[in-house]
Amino acid sequence: MVKSNLVLGIIGGGQLGSMLATAAKNLQIKTVILTDDNEAPAKNFCDEIIISKYNDRIKVKDFISKVDVVTFEFENIPFEVLSNISKFKKILPDPKINQIVQDRKKEKTFINDIGIKTTSWTFVRSKDDIIKNKSLLPGLLKTCTLGYDGRGQFLINDLNEVSDKIDFSKEYILEKLVNFKKEISVILTRYGNGEFSIYEPIENTHKDQILVTSKIPAEISKKIFKESQFNAKQIAEKLNYVGTMCVEFFIDKDDNLLVNEIAPRVHNSGHLTINAFNVSQFENHLRSVCSLESVKIEKLKNAEMTNIIGKKIINYRNKNFKKNEFFFDYLKTQIKEKRKMGHITILK
Ligand code: AMP
Repeated sequence: MVKSNLVLGIIGGGQLGSMLATAAKNLQIKTVILTDDNEAPAKNFCDEIIISKYNDRIKVKDFISKVDVVTFEFENIPFEVLSNISKFKKILPDPKINQIVQDRKKEKTFINDIGIKTTSWTFVRSKDDIIKNKSLLPGLLKTCTLGYDGRGQFLINDLNEVSDKIDFSKEYILEKLVNFKKEISVILTRYGNGEFSIYEPIENTHKDQILVTSKIPAEISKKIFKESQFNAKQIAEKLNYVGTMCVEFFIDKDDNLLVNEIAPRVHNSGHLTINAFNVSQFENHLRSVCSLESVKIEKLKNAEMTNIIGKKIINYRNKNFKKNEFFFDYLKTQIKEKRKMGHITILK
């Protein structure tokens, strides 16, 4: 057990913030969460919560005064907010990285520029841009910023489907629809001294663009295993990244490995690391951002995680579990359709 007097500030109070706070407790790191959500579930897991608009200077100042180092559980925090906080306290991962990955155009350009393949894509500002790039159809039109879990995405099969409802005052990328074999993700933690802790690739399934299951081992070739870890490390290295991050990939029918996106934070597909490894993605993140020593990761068991979405949580709340089943209730006060309410990991 690490003895620490550190106080970690976490921006965001959702389930990822909750799981970071729980892991922090085990390392005797105190946590203060800053969130704009009155009902943030992380209030049940952290030491202190400050509920405030992110641009409320007084409350943000209070947050800054209480913490030694700051991290975040989601990447779409306005850059000005992070930039202001970083004048007073170190934020890890570096907010400059958010500026790249918050914007799909900058993110894909960065990945391609370091020689790593993504889906075929183009930047779109108008209907004309789509017409000029019709070879990318059927494709997904995705807003450059603020889209997640399928929000801000439109499937366009052919030019007749380019609807007048699309708001072209926003910026988009048009991405060719990949007829993929599989989706995998690689989660790694990079430490300030350049050391890596990298998990094996995780195989994921999605429904309606929301993650449903994640499992290890991923059923992939040795080549894809190595290439995905290599690419994820390259990305982290080039970003001079400190903390846990996730790279999501598609494997297409011809076994091409294509990066879908980078998440500069702990990730839903890594929840199984809590039970399947000696050190979880959350603990690893804390160890790196708080400059603690790394611990070599070891897999304890194979595992499958299933997200519990919407009303399904009710059944789980009344269920008895076997010894190899680990249920996590995010303790969200309102049940909403398509909302991640909890998850279960089954060790195999
Ligand atoms: P994203 O928000 O970009 O991570 O997309 C969420 C999910 O939508 C992915 O995990 C895929 O299941 C699906 N998806 C996104 N982009 C594509 C694409 N170009 N081709 C096929 N499926 C996609």
